[in-house]
Amino acid sequence: MLVVMQAQATEEQVRAVCERIESLGLKAHPIPGAARTAIGITGNKGAVDLGILESLPGVGECIPVSKPYKLVSRDAKEEDSILRIATPRGDVLVGGDAIAMVAGPCAVETEAQCFAIAEQVAKTGCKLFRGGAYKPRTSPYSFQGLGEAGLKILAEVRERYGFGIITEAIDNESLDLVEKYADVIQIGARNMQNFSLLKRAGRAKKPVLLKRGMSATLDEFLMAAEYVLSEGNYNVMLCERGVRTFSDFSRNTLDLAVVPAVKKRSHLPILVDPSHGTGKRHKVLPLSRAAVAVGADGLLVEVHNEPEKALSDGMQSILPEEFAALMRDVGQIAAVLHRHVN
Ligand code: PEP
Ligand code: MN
Repeated sequence: MLVVMQAQATEEQVRAVCERIESLGLKAHPIPGAARTAIGITGNKGAVDLGILESLPGVGECIPVSKPYKLVSRDAKEEDSILRIATPRGDVLVGGDAIAMVAGPCAVETEAQCFAIAEQVAKTGCKLFRGGAYKPRTSPYSFQGLGEAGLKILAEVRERYGFGIITEAIDNESLDLVEKYADVIQIGARNMQNFSLLKRAGRAKKPVLLKRGMSATLDEFLMAAEYVLSEGNYNVMLCERGVRTFSDFSRNTLDLAVVPAVKKRSHLPILVDPSHGTGKRHKVLPLSRAAVAVGADGLLVEVHNEPEKALSDGMQSILPEEFAALMRDVGQIAAVLHRHVN
């Protein structure tokens, strides 16, 4: 259920409607929009009695939401959500006209490795740095990440180069630490339906980057985001990173068609990860161009200064100079679409 307030409704009226909703034992989610505020209602088992709410001052209309996802839906908010990621050099915007670029190694390996990559990535104008301190690996014998020591390295990268930091939390324990050290909390493909982790991310104070599960349908993807929003964190960006198909020439099949599909249904920004989406270095640039052309709100790219020595995902990591060329191409494609890279 969605309560759409009148355009001229006051903050007090919005608050009064929220209080009324909460007094019914339900949860109210005010979602301010450009023209009017909508209030999403969750926690109801069946239909909510419309009459009670419709008669309150400032209420425009009450609409039942038939889709399983509510808060992430365009019904709740017509215009695109624009996220602000706080960084030492000011806010980086994601969505609307702004395309956000994120680059860095798959895993934080050493301070020297991160500094070497960060230094070159910073020169390209990219403002967000990625790197996993906690790595969800298929094999328990593969490199699992440096844990908190890795987060400390990322914090140094932040300090020295002014980057906003995006890094993955793999469980509630690591999420506490990621929230402390980083600027954006990444939830990985393997955890897209880890519902307790999603709820914990929903209570976090930092934005969340939610990757699509490797066999997740669009509805499942949006419902995973709904978990985060339903706990009160509306700063969510989605990320398409490839799905499993019969195609045998790449690690995953990058489902670029999901970008306009998400845009049709949801106001949330969606990024594309062409590194995991292809698994091969030579495909990263062409798929990055395509992702921006199709409407992605940003790219998440794995970059390594010595990919042949990388402890994870070296095959799909591009060199810093290749990333510089990618930034130039993406900037030009963005301009054609009247967007800009920030
Ligand atoms: C990653 O970004 O390094 C990662 C593990 O991605 P995914 O969860 O998409 O596999
Ligand atoms: Mn990786």
